[in-house]
Amino acid sequence: MRASTVGGSPHRASATTPAPITVAPVPDLPDAPFHEPAASTFDTQPIVGIDEALSLDSTTDDDGELRARQARQHEAAAEVLADRGDWRRAYQHLRAAMALVHLGDTPPVRVPEQLRREVDRLRRERAEAREQSRRDSLTATWNRRYLDEQLSTLRDEQHTSVCVALVDVDHFKLVNDGYGHAVGDAVLRGLVGLMRSEIDALVPDGFCARYGGEEFALVLPGVSREDAIAACERIRARIEGNDWSAVAPDLTVTVSLGFGCLDLTATAETTASVSSGLLDHVDELLYVAKRTGRNALAYRDSAGEVRLAGPASGRRGVAAVARTVGGAARRGRARR
Ligand code: GH3
Ligand code: MG
Ligand code: MG
Repeated sequence: MRASTVGGSPHRASATTPAPITVAPVPDLPDAPFHEPAASTFDTQPIVGIDEALSLDSTTDDDGELRARQARQHEAAAEVLADRGDWRRAYQHLRAAMALVHLGDTPPVRVPEQLRREVDRLRRERAEAREQSRRDSLTATWNRRYLDEQLSTLRDEQHTSVCVALVDVDHFKLVNDGYGHAVGDAVLRGLVGLMRSEIDALVPDGFCARYGGEEFALVLPGVSREDAIAACERIRARIEGNDWSAVAPDLTVTVSLGFGCLDLTATAETTASVSSGLLDHVDELLYVAKRTGRNALAYRDSAGEVRLAGPASGRRGVAAVARTVGGAARRGRARR
């Protein structure tokens, strides 16, 4: 293999060793035969022992030939690194080679089969690690990181509106105190199962994310406000009516929800700042649901009045509590 021409020791470099090729940033690559990984964090430090292989012959004045030579050098460097088992850097050089090939009519880079397999494996592992870093370890639902990412890219994904509910388990401390932490954990897992089955049935792009502790965010893009309120109220009723005896005898569980929607076409603000405003708004409504008796969903109607959905709609004092939202009472609530 060409490794002998590129893998020599740095001590063999001539006195006029030219600067190594800088391989970053690498332009986007064509889909085939490689698929772009979700995000690249490969480093671009010079590679010990490979610098000679990456030196340019400045005597050429032909762009295509220069690119071809550079691509071959990157390819050769990739082979050397792959031989050493340094797949990350091998992949980096292969990307650089592919990018050069993509720029012009340079002859295609030969991809060693072993390298191709390892790069595929590396890509799969990266995708799995990426997904894992966005999952909650207790419930396996999405975590706050995923939630923030998704909310900030809603407009890019052509969604024109999104509804969000924050769900907080009522008196969850009493569940832990009365039944133990393991039962509390089982309740959180059970809740996720119930919420997800309801969301999956209504919105393919919807999801449930653990917001922190015993709080969850339900995100329903592209659903009408009425349908989303109805779905969230169904979730509340389903949790209240669920048979929890398999988790612990005589256990009952209820949740309170704050609910709000966002018209993504009605504002020029960034989705990230608007969605964080939406979460604050929804959080205030969750507070109203708590303060007016729990086990309820609070939302604002088209006139801006705070309402409770379903059987809780007849409760008194909602407007009075809503007036305190954002004031001293709200600030006294310890969350997050
Ligand atoms: P409220 O109705 O006002 O929300 O009352 P609460 O008891 O649910 O609220 P509080 O904030 O007083 O208590 C939340 C509890 O949730 C305290 C904490 O120990 C528990 N908790 C948070 N995360 C977990 C978890 O992962 N597992 C278990 N078992 N408990 C958790
Ligand atoms: Mg809470
Ligand atoms: Mg709670």
